[in-house]
Amino acid sequence: MTELSKVSVTALKGVGEAMAEKLAKVGLENLQDVLFHLPLRYQDRTRVVPIGALRPGQDAVIEGVVSGVDVVMGKRRSLLVRLGDGSGVLSLRFYHFSTAQKDGMKRGTHLRCYGEARPGASGLEIYHPEYRALTGDEPAPVEQTLTPIYPLTEGLTQQRLRQLCQQSLAMLGPRSLPDWLPHELARDYQLAPLNEAIHYLHNPPADADVDELALGHHWAQHRLAFEELLTHQLSQQRLRESLRAQRAPLLPIASRLPAQYLANLGFAPTGAQQRVGKEIAYDLSQPEPMLRLVQGDVGAGKTVVAALAALQALEAGYQVALMAPTEILAEQHFITFKRWLEPLGIDVAWLAGKLKGKARAAALEQIAGGTPMVVGTHALFQDEVKFQRLALVIIDEQHRFGVQQRLALRQKGVGGQLCPHQLIMTATPIPRTLAMSAYADLDTSILDELPPGRTPVNTVLVADSRRIEVVERVRAACAEGRQAYWVCTLIEESEELTCQAAETTFEELTSALGELRVGLIHGRMKPAEKAAVMAEFKQGHLQLLVATTVIEVGVDVPNASLMIIENPERLGLAQLHQLRGRVGRGSAVSHCVLLYHPPLSQIGRERLGIMRETNDGFVIAEKDLALRGPGEMLGTRQTGLLQFKVADLMRDADLLPAVRDAAQALLARWPQNVSPLLERWLRHGQQYGQV
Ligand code: ADP
Ligand code: MG
Repeated sequence: MTELSKVSVTALKGVGEAMAEKLAKVGLENLQDVLFHLPLRYQDRTRVVPIGALRPGQDAVIEGVVSGVDVVMGKRRSLLVRLGDGSGVLSLRFYHFSTAQKDGMKRGTHLRCYGEARPGASGLEIYHPEYRALTGDEPAPVEQTLTPIYPLTEGLTQQRLRQLCQQSLAMLGPRSLPDWLPHELARDYQLAPLNEAIHYLHNPPADADVDELALGHHWAQHRLAFEELLTHQLSQQRLRESLRAQRAPLLPIASRLPAQYLANLGFAPTGAQQRVGKEIAYDLSQPEPMLRLVQGDVGAGKTVVAALAALQALEAGYQVALMAPTEILAEQHFITFKRWLEPLGIDVAWLAGKLKGKARAAALEQIAGGTPMVVGTHALFQDEVKFQRLALVIIDEQHRFGVQQRLALRQKGVGGQLCPHQLIMTATPIPRTLAMSAYADLDTSILDELPPGRTPVNTVLVADSRRIEVVERVRAACAEGRQAYWVCTLIEESEELTCQAAETTFEELTSALGELRVGLIHGRMKPAEKAAVMAEFKQGHLQLLVATTVIEVGVDVPNASLMIIENPERLGLAQLHQLRGRVGRGSAVSHCVLLYHPPLSQIGRERLGIMRETNDGFVIAEKDLALRGPGEMLGTRQTGLLQFKVADLMRDADLLPAVRDAAQALLARWPQNVSPLLERWLRHGQQYGQV
């Protein structure tokens, strides 16, 4: 039998071009895809539950005899049907119903229903149950297996998807879906055979442990999650190996430039900066490329660490490129590095996407001509950008750069041969559980100490009905010589709308706070305009800055000590933490007002509560992860770094140590199984497998 991964979905009965297109939308192109498309959850329709035994919140099949039918008038008119089975009674409630429906449920009718029992006005109720009248004396049959509920796409029904799965299951066999985990490995890690797990998950028997399945801790789910995580691990190791196999410029530990730099700096590096600096310095002195991630909370002083690394390459006579994800941040780095390096006699060049014409040509010439320090945006990745002697690439706020882009750097090395060292810096603290798996291809250093003299930001939650008070608060802070940010958040994923909102807010605040100098910055403004506004704010000419989240990353104005964030419930915690990190950079006590729009959902309340309770980015990251899931937190939608089909890093974190060991074993003893696994799981994200 052919492998199911080679059989198109069109081989299934009833799947033509149109249906195949719909299936492709959820990633189902072949029969293996169909079998790996696992149910989100299950319904238990295998037994009839006595009404008296129903718990609130339980989904169940029940049967009973109608004892009363009423149309009740409450807030909304509804049909209430009383149903009893001798063990208890409950009500079925319908807000939409036809006369025919009502007539079909007369007193004495025998009904079978399925739905969720909820506490209601009349005791337990089921809203809009699925139901049918039972006739005759024979007991109506129940389902033999749990009913799977699949993730759907438009134009696809559960019924249809179930049929397709059942058809595919009928073709399941050891040849058609090979198990790439060798027996020995499966035994050591207590993993069930692949086909058994797949079969089970599409058709769990009536006695399956529904709670375990719901939590994702069932053995069958473990089997697949393990394989997926294992594959992810293998791909990262491959990536790492192939990068390590390259040669890099050897950069001896520097002394002259760092000493001069530190002498001019005006403060002493923290213990953490020194420790991380040493880790980097050692890596750079080695002949293979460094791949190091520096994690440090906002304000931890990553830029100093970056400068020390740069100086080591510069002292050895090489070029360094520093890249930042936004123009504002890149420009700020450009200014900082000019300030730090020019006194040491080192030139700094600038390149961003917006640079055009002559200015761009001049920048490209400088870079090719060997200007030692180059700062810019991802425009530095473009093909026409040729470096003369590039030895080190520093990437700020890594989570916005993809693996692909990092790989592309290789071509930029000296003579296209020596691979530059890579230093990646992120202020998004990554929970330990995740870091091990998400960045298995990188070494990590943690900058876990803030420079002295910082006081934690005091965060409060205020409903937007008290907006006027908040405006007064801004007035008072500015009257004391402080500066403030007023941040407008994203509206319905639309940058356009968000910028408009910021403009409106700017006008309102300008008229409400007539005596203050108010500035506006948003993503639709020209880079030069943005830069001018930023500079004015930094110099203290502007007292209040109305902004969209463009100020999120890295912007540094120590005199700003108050931040208002409108509709904070629209943002992820990691992003809120980043934003809030713009204040609390000076010696004054800083405040952050989360101006939310009530009512908040339960989760919304919990999330904002976390912001109020802690300033520790790692704690926030852990909680954010628990509430939102890893893909969102790391901003990996674009890079595809952490999109799992079955696994969930948080839920399956306890599998990770075993997964790592198993990956080693597989590489050592069954290397021929690696490629098929990569192919199976990473078909849509091949960057890992092929370096
Ligand atoms: P981040 O880690 O968020 O990128 P920055 O590098 O922007 O942080 O540093 C934040 C601020 O702290 C800057 O104004 C920087 O000059 C200052 N800073 C960095 N290191 C120290 C230190 N060791 N002592 C005092 N201030 C420092
Ligand atoms: Mg920074």
